[in-house]
Amino acid sequence: MGEAPAFIADDLHTSFSNGLHLKLNEFETATVIGNKTYVIGGINDPTSTGVRIFNKSTGNWVIPTILGTKPKAFKGHSTILLNKDRILIIKTNSKSNDSIWFLEVDTQFVEDQKKKFETEVVAWSKGVIGDAERPIVISGPSGVGKGTLINMLMKEFPSMFGFSVSHTTRAPREKEENGVHYHFTNRSVMEEEIKAGKFLEFAAVHGNLYGTSVEAVEVVADAGKRCILDIDVQGARSVRASSLEAIFVFICPPSFEELEKRLRERGTETEEQIQKRLRNAKAELEQGKSSGLFDHVLVNDDLEACYERLKKILGLDGSSDATLKTQTEVFDLPMDFSLSKINEKILINSGIDERRIVLDLSSMKGGAPGRTRGLCMYTTGN
Ligand code: ADP
Ligand code: 5GP
Repeated sequence: MGEAPAFIADDLHTSFSNGLHLKLNEFETATVIGNKTYVIGGINDPTSTGVRIFNKSTGNWVIPTILGTKPKAFKGHSTILLNKDRILIIKTNSKSNDSIWFLEVDTQFVEDQKKKFETEVVAWSKGVIGDAERPIVISGPSGVGKGTLINMLMKEFPSMFGFSVSHTTRAPREKEENGVHYHFTNRSVMEEEIKAGKFLEFAAVHGNLYGTSVEAVEVVADAGKRCILDIDVQGARSVRASSLEAIFVFICPPSFEELEKRLRERGTETEEQIQKRLRNAKAELEQGKSSGLFDHVLVNDDLEACYERLKKILGLDGSSDATLKTQTEVFDLPMDFSLSKINEKILINSGIDERRIVLDLSSMKGGAPGRTRGLCMYTTGN
């Protein structure tokens, strides 16, 4: 206990144990970490950024670059500091499936972004109760059959898998739909969005820009589904370095000649594009097989046999329990409560009844960019 220097502004002036005296607005909280005081609030005010930082050593206020999807408007909340790298925010008078948020202030992701933006950076990550299965990254050269295998999975297990819809600057193929197969965009818009930190990863592939937005992955996780990403080897490397904790599968053709045959027979590319994709396939195959990046390498020779092996990797062949371990019970958070921390458990004390809500963070994983998963909530007492 005692590691929670967070103060709720019940009057407009709040004094801190370190001698600091700040003027806070209604519904704002302040959390002190070293010389910095993070003021969170004003999130219901669309003109406000929701987070400001007071630096005691310079005496200045700083508005940080704020990454991640920020919570929708809320009035009351309580905060507690976790391990000096993130602040837990619990909204009052809310449902537990939208009450838990983390503001990351010093995690590895935030540190990397601080170097990139050369400003103060904070990142929002929504807390998700339960533990949806790990996302799946599927890579392999163009024409190898990734899309075919993914379609088979989505068709057989529609409620279990969700496809991460990437952004691309390439033109749509005849049967492709915007928002379903890709979000089709143009280079300048996508570059701006990359600069704004909206992408989990991006890469130039066959002369076009492709990328996975943070939102694309979050939408699938929010639907309680397991996310499938069809991305190239460069993208897989970026995702490996992120907090997504995915399973990485590389698909190979039985031979280069067969790859060329499939690509031609698909009939979706011009001869020039086919040549470019085949040239790139050589390097992709080398990297895919030798980089150690992939957990599994599958040869897509006979389609049905390859699909069966893919299902086995994903625990869908009956050899393991493949049901989603998602906690479905939703709790009502009270109007007013205080937070305390014992080891990895957060106690939510309403003071009104004997019932106490516990948020267990011991299996917490993930984080910005994306959701913070593996949380468990339960009640004790009457
Ligand atoms: P990718 O998504 O990797 O670019 P696709 O799934 O579009 O590849 O497959 C390319 C073409 O190869 C498609 O016409 C598909 O029907 C065909 N195909 C996929 N897997 C096999 C296989 N195992 N044997 C023969 N043809 C295949
Ligand atoms: P296609 O143009 O055939 O749809 O895709 C070409 C390549 O781009 C494939 O290797 C595919 O895996 C890759 N790709 C598709 N979406 C993404 C993405 O969001 N990020 C990255 N890095 N690669 C992608």
